[in-house]
Amino acid sequence: MLLERFPRVSLSHAPTPLEPLDRLRQAIGGPRLWIKRDDCTGLAQGGNKARKLEFLVADAIAKGSDLLITPGAVQSNHVRMTAAAAARFGMKCHAVLERRVTETDADYEENGNVLLDEVLGCTRSYVPGGSDVAAACAAAAEEFKAKGAKPYVIPGGGSNPIGALGYVACAMELMAQASQIGVNVSRLVHGTGSSGTQAGLVAGFAAMRSPISVYGVSVRHPRQKQEEMVFDLACRTADHLGHSGIVKREQVFADDGYVGPGYGQPTPGMVEALTLVARTEGILLDPVYSGKAMAGMIDAIRKGKFAADEDIVFLHTGGSTALFGYKHVFLKA
Ligand SMILES: *Cc1c(COP(=O)(O)O)cnc(C)c1O
Repeated sequence: MLLERFPRVSLSHAPTPLEPLDRLRQAIGGPRLWIKRDDCTGLAQGGNKARKLEFLVADAIAKGSDLLITPGAVQSNHVRMTAAAAARFGMKCHAVLERRVTETDADYEENGNVLLDEVLGCTRSYVPGGSDVAAACAAAAEEFKAKGAKPYVIPGGGSNPIGALGYVACAMELMAQASQIGVNVSRLVHGTGSSGTQAGLVAGFAAMRSPISVYGVSVRHPRQKQEEMVFDLACRTADHLGHSGIVKREQVFADDGYVGPGYGQPTPGMVEALTLVARTEGILLDPVYSGKAMAGMIDAIRKGKFAADEDIVFLHTGGSTALFGYKHVFLKA
């Protein structure tokens, strides 16, 4: 009902599974834990961007474009999935890769997502860390236009009111799944970066009058900046849905305690959380987003921040492909 009037293509294997995390729960104690497997969306290794791209690519097609341009960090999952989405609909893809992470090695530069960008036929240009990537994408679009292409620029992470609709859809999907299995979800935990995932979830739960609260774990910005970005986009997403004013500022929360030295830079908590989940559940998280988000959730549970009778869902947003760019962190010489 909420989403039917928006153009959408099919790119994700939804509904993604909702599974118990019983062995992880045994290892750390605390509330009942579930995992929503958006790492299994199925678009060239999956991840959260597949849901956003369903709406963004439909908009690009409606506007007659034949080239998707988007920015990202060098090991961007979003770029890899945008490249796959472009291929799927016969479009070209160009990425503006920002050298946001310093102290990298050959694996970071060439393996993982970068390797798959190449396999998927995505051309790439590089800009220094801290560059205005939106301006760089706009400039690239002008260059491609001059050569006769019809570019469509997707913002970083696919995070605008169109892309965030993908996570309005996920909010609705999760509510239906939880009610089907009779679970009363109190909270959803996930890694928040460019903010479209959290904004879509918050707007979706608000529009559905769900009591599920969203616990964002920031992977980049300090709390205030992250919450402002999420709130702003959640409000604009609600406007786009035709439900202006439904999102309240207090519905937006981001914990900034797990970023460590910076975006994409490993932390001991991430390594512990990622290996614990791998070795108790056989599930692969990623070093940049879901590993830090899991570190935040485990720490919150250990500190008794969540009630023992809660049902908490961890949203696995994907990204394990980036593990191949972080070999040195896990395989110490
Ligand atoms: C992009 C990404 C996120 C963050 O989602 P945003 O919508 O950018 O906040 C989380 N996890 C993974 C694996 C991602 O690639």
